[in-house]
Amino acid sequence: MTRYTPIPPSKLCERFGLDIAQRRQRLAFLELEDSDHVLATELLEGVIRPNVGGIIDQFYAKLVTDPGALSFISNDETLNRLKKTQIKYLSTLGVGFDTEEYFEDRLRVGLVHDRVGLPLTTYQCAYNILQKIIIVYIRKMLPGDRIDAVMEFLLKIISLDMSLAIEAYHDLQVQGLTRSLDNMKDRQRVLQRRVSTDGLTGVLSRSQILEDLQRYIQNAQNDSSDLSVMMLDIDFFKRVNDQYGHQTGDLVLIQIAQRFKAAVRHVDLVGRYGGEEFLVILPDADMKTSVQIAERIRSHAASSPIKNDEHVISVSISGGVTMFVATDSAESLIDRADRALYEAKEGGRNRVVYLSAEDDSHS
Ligand code: GH3
Ligand code: MG
Ligand code: MG
Repeated sequence: MTRYTPIPPSKLCERFGLDIAQRRQRLAFLELEDSDHVLATELLEGVIRPNVGGIIDQFYAKLVTDPGALSFISNDETLNRLKKTQIKYLSTLGVGFDTEEYFEDRLRVGLVHDRVGLPLTTYQCAYNILQKIIIVYIRKMLPGDRIDAVMEFLLKIISLDMSLAIEAYHDLQVQGLTRSLDNMKDRQRVLQRRVSTDGLTGVLSRSQILEDLQRYIQNAQNDSSDLSVMMLDIDFFKRVNDQYGHQTGDLVLIQIAQRFKAAVRHVDLVGRYGGEEFLVILPDADMKTSVQIAERIRSHAASSPIKNDEHVISVSISGGVTMFVATDSAESLIDRADRALYEAKEGGRNRVVYLSAEDDSHS
């Protein structure tokens, strides 16, 4: 997979918001003026061109001592390719620095360096090395009265080139980071979904529904709203397994869970509490509403037999319902719903029993 898509010329300036006004501002900031074009020619013709081979050789001899550079200058072929690019770079250094093409070329340097995987530190030190080498040549090649002016121009133009290249380089690095961050978030979401849903039935997992219950209890305590919970259990489920096999038992669990979900309101939460026991959270539901919903769940679950290719299986469920009171914890609430469920089983199954905190304390 390649992450590099070539960007056509004159698109980079656009992408970095470097329109003519912006470009002028950059140049003004570095005090690069029209008169500097003469200095650019002096630098190029008088210093760089006659010594380009020497500059390049010294530059790479020094650069390869940097451990970061070593990692990407892996062989002679890469080195030769880089030298060629560098010769091209040097032979245009400062030439037409106020044109759009110049800005484009310099931004592109950053893209290339990001692509070859050059570490930022190496990148910065490379400009520094280059500058030092050229300064030595300026001193050697130019008459004494021209040295300071050309040197000053060199410092300005290297600053411009470096800032443009780093700007593009940095932008791509940030893009890369954003992409990997997005990937990580996606993976996290997948994992989160995996732990928050029950693998077999697709309803909430035990840990998730218990976590949700804590949150709903908090809310009910804060705003004194109604909250009911319901424990549901499939009747004689062991027989289903014994009679039709575990796989068919699984199918029944899946279908029953779907029926539960279809029968509750969209605000209610359904989770698999244990093997064939389900917990339902009913926010804003008083006794009447919660019993109504429980009854709807019960009758929907038992409404028609569950079929597969071989069997037609009639199932029913029992339910225990209770309402949250201020003194409740998640444990006491679930305990009470469990006791209500036990009563439903004792009372003959395929039924729903409501147990209030008050009745529970009297029993
Ligand atoms: P009751 O009406 O009193 O609830 O009777 P029951 O047979 O449903 O109750 P019991 O708790 O004795 O049996 C529950 C059975 O559920 C036992 C266990 O093998 C089965 N079971 C639990 N988890 C799964 C599962 O993931 N798949 C299948 N196929 N069976 C399961
Ligand atoms: Mg059961
Ligand atoms: Mg059970």
